[in-house]
Amino acid sequence: MLESRVSVIAKEFHSMGAPRNDDIPMLIYNATVVTWGAANAVLPKHAILIKDGLISALGPDAQLLKAYPQEEKLDAGGQILMPGSICAHTHFYGAFARGLAIPGPAPKDFPEILKRLWWPLDKALDEASIRASALIHLVDAIKNGATLLFDHHASPNFIDGSLDVIAEAVQQSGLRAVLCYEVTDRDGAAKAQAGIRENLRFSERLRNQQSTNGRLAATFGLHASLTLSDETLEACRAALPAEGGFHIHVAEHEADQEDSLAKSGLRVVPRLAKHGILGPHTITAHAVHVDTTEIEMLAETGTWVSHQPRSNMNNGVGVADVDALLAAGIKVCLGNDGFTQDMWSEWKAAYLLQKVWQRDPRRMNGADVAKIGAYHNAALADSFFPGAPLGEIAAGARADLILVDYHAPTPLSAGNLPWQILFGFQERMVTTTMVNGEFLMRDRKVLTLDEAEIAAQARQLAPQVWERYTQYAMT
Ligand SMILES: [Zn+2]
Repeated sequence: MLESRVSVIAKEFHSMGAPRNDDIPMLIYNATVVTWGAANAVLPKHAILIKDGLISALGPDAQLLKAYPQEEKLDAGGQILMPGSICAHTHFYGAFARGLAIPGPAPKDFPEILKRLWWPLDKALDEASIRASALIHLVDAIKNGATLLFDHHASPNFIDGSLDVIAEAVQQSGLRAVLCYEVTDRDGAAKAQAGIRENLRFSERLRNQQSTNGRLAATFGLHASLTLSDETLEACRAALPAEGGFHIHVAEHEADQEDSLAKSGLRVVPRLAKHGILGPHTITAHAVHVDTTEIEMLAETGTWVSHQPRSNMNNGVGVADVDALLAAGIKVCLGNDGFTQDMWSEWKAAYLLQKVWQRDPRRMNGADVAKIGAYHNAALADSFFPGAPLGEIAAGARADLILVDYHAPTPLSAGNLPWQILFGFQERMVTTTMVNGEFLMRDRKVLTLDEAEIAAQARQLAPQVWERYTQYAMT
């Protein structure tokens, strides 16, 4: 059963790098282009030429309309044309948590939330509900203008082939994603081994079929220090070449530190460093409860840190000191931890949370929100999809972009763009989403996925998923 399903997906993978309907050049003109280039620029009445999944030219309307008179054209009507949003840390698998009732009194802290919500829920997932969870998030991403997602997956009762199920949904959506399976010891040694195998199998499969236009990449998932033994960390490190990186939760709650000190005598970051888990290819999510030594270690090792303010608020775990992380030179990125895929909402939460936390409106400058949400996320994306830049509108960059129906009520400039986004942009203004030169949504119509059908199928599955969840939650 598994073999046949995997082989069907494998056939589809062979076409993974091929352009779909992006082989016809297209000129998008009459746009206000936001480049998010090294020196950001806002360019009114500009055009881009898209060819073979890339932006092959950027220039004033008059110049490009004259140079490319024969190409198919799209009048952007003065809308903002900008790179699609990138999410550095998400969990598709949590989709069925929406509206779910946790039995008993409300969980009192994050360890209880893990034990009573997330762990019974991920155990309840089977192949159909994994696929549905992914599709729910993918259609949400297209509508919200998020074009690349770093997913961190768990389904202890359906590990082997789980990343193929998600990959198939990603392929169907046309989005880009970086996938991994979160290895953990919480369900015993056999399932920890199965998680290791799943990461290796999936990355090996992508390696054999890589293409610069590929929409999929892989990393190696680890749950968190508090559910990983020294032996499993060693096995994970040994399974990868030295330059291979990981995607792991770090110090989301004090419990991670307490567990690490009890297990190893070390705090979480030094413990992970000792096992070779940190480095320039590793993403650590949260870093809420790290001390100054740990911040230095994250900076020195070039490790990425992903910030998820909405999740941190929801779980009541505390606030990551983003200003301190940035001051130390850490490449802080922005994720959503499985919240909705509206990344400007995450920008706004990041901006507001630091101010109320510190009772200081100077904290979390808008330009720093853009640094993490646009620039660092793009740099992280580039490290997984080498060959052509992501997260930038420039000649030679990948055509992963959105059109935004935003009418600036004050002069819009490269300098004030972060604050225009924080106080004015809303995801409902995204009218068009394109990845690799292919329209995934055009004029607010999603073209690659059927949202109503996805939601209807999920509603059919939900009672069984919730029933299994409740059984696990009660035991
Ligand atoms: Zn997470």
